[in-house]
Amino acid sequence: MVSNTRREFIQASLVSGTLAAGNAVGQVTEVKRQNTGETAVTAEYDIAVVGAGTAGAIAAIQAGRLGLRTVLIEKNGMPGGTTTTAAVNFPGLFHAWGRQVIAGIGWELVSRAVAECGGQLPDFTVVPERHPQHQVRVNRAVYASLLCEALHQAGVSVLFHSMPARVEEGEDGFLLTLCTKTGLETIKALAVIDATGDANVVGLAGYSVVEHDTLQPGSLILTLTGYDFNALDKERLRRVFQEGVDKGELTPEDNTFVRRNIVGFLAARGDNCTHITNINGRTSAGRSEAELRSRTCLLHVYRFLRRQPGLEGLEIAFMAPECGIRETVTIQGEVTIMHEDYVSGRLWQDAVCYSFYPIDLHNVQGGGIDTRPLKPGTVPTVPRGALVPRGSRRLLAAGRCLSSDREANSALRVQATCMACGQAAAVLAAQAVRENTGVMNVDMKGVYEILRQHRAIVPG
Ligand SMILES: Cc1cc2nc3c(=O)[nH]c(=O)nc-3n(C[C@H](O)[C@H](O)[C@H](O)COP(=O)(O)OP(=O)(O)OC[C@H]3O[C@@H](n4cnc5c(N)ncnc54)[C@H](O)[C@@H]3O)c2cc1C
Repeated sequence: MVSNTRREFIQASLVSGTLAAGNAVGQVTEVKRQNTGETAVTAEYDIAVVGAGTAGAIAAIQAGRLGLRTVLIEKNGMPGGTTTTAAVNFPGLFHAWGRQVIAGIGWELVSRAVAECGGQLPDFTVVPERHPQHQVRVNRAVYASLLCEALHQAGVSVLFHSMPARVEEGEDGFLLTLCTKTGLETIKALAVIDATGDANVVGLAGYSVVEHDTLQPGSLILTLTGYDFNALDKERLRRVFQEGVDKGELTPEDNTFVRRNIVGFLAARGDNCTHITNINGRTSAGRSEAELRSRTCLLHVYRFLRRQPGLEGLEIAFMAPECGIRETVTIQGEVTIMHEDYVSGRLWQDAVCYSFYPIDLHNVQGGGIDTRPLKPGTVPTVPRGALVPRGSRRLLAAGRCLSSDREANSALRVQATCMACGQAAAVLAAQAVRENTGVMNVDMKGVYEILRQHRAIVPG
């Protein structure tokens, strides 16, 4: 509930001249206080993007390239989100059935990251036997740095180490009260893109989200070195690991952590081969639990393996700074993409991008994956309304929390789609600001024209 004094403050700040000069947070050195006791508005933007992850970084670059005053707010210290901080650095899928279906800013930066490292892209004209063959592995450091460079060149104001604590919507935009390292700061934006993956901003603004009874597990990405996999006695390892679990030397959760397949875990050298189940990655408490439990498992498994023949020199050469989260909530959008829409390749009338991936549900108890490839030729699309919280005007959600049922979401959540949605969300937000209207009312012809100018592929 917004108090009267607070409401007056919001209206006054949105309408009048209490806004500080300069549009970059970094330029504002003094935070003045009003008589209301609230923090003054320190900066004013056209578009605020919250979350500099897979979708959000692309959204902010697009908004900046359109010349809009853009701020990007991120809780961590680098862009890329799950692609970099959670180390899931294998974006997919940009190609379907021998042709490119997603391009634009995401593809520009992913392909540049490969080129910077002297790497080769797969031959996308050949339909692969298994979809991961068309995922593009990027170097995390190079990809994050390319994002930083592109954000800078696009003139985006970046505020790392900050999170919104309060989001208030007035007639003419939003006030976001941010928790920064030195205290609360309030900024104004005419449109907001929630790219937190978890619809945190949508929730703070008071719009509905859909919670699910069951959630896919998260994963802690690792790189293990210091052993010769081929020389290991795999049968013995399987047996002693199970005995360790049965005797209580290892916990059942340790077994789930290695996806109940210690040999597979060692074969993949950790990588994307861990599961941490029953977590709520949307809240700080839930995320903390995931981080603590997964690292406890890691330590147990590491100690156990180092006692086994051939693994005495085992090293954890890399551990992602944060657990990768596959699923939390989805927004209750103006339109919801259902499983049938996805697998039938429905072409929505106001589709903003394609999406391509198998239905890909990781077992909620950990261990297996239910993977169901799409029928040949099928390429699903994403409608504008799946990015718009129901009843909102200039608030969008880009990334894995787009409005979709669980099965459709298990495919829509992948990185190429998140990047395409981020770019589309920025263009929709920009046009809503320019046309002084709501996102659901913008002229789609103009949106498509801009998307094409910025090398995105528009369905249909
Ligand atoms: C283990 C794992 C394996 C996967 N495998 C693949 C794969 O092989 N190929 C593929 O394409 N996809 C894969 N995915 C899916 C894909 O990586 C994610 O769904 C996608 O990256 C999510 O993008 P996003 O932009 O929605 O969120 P993110 O990339 O997670 O970005 C969200 C950003 O918002 C920030 N943030 C969150 N909350 C706040 C807040 N309150 N305030 C400020 N900042 C905030 C985060 O720090 C982060 O930077 C995998 C996912 C996981 C977890």
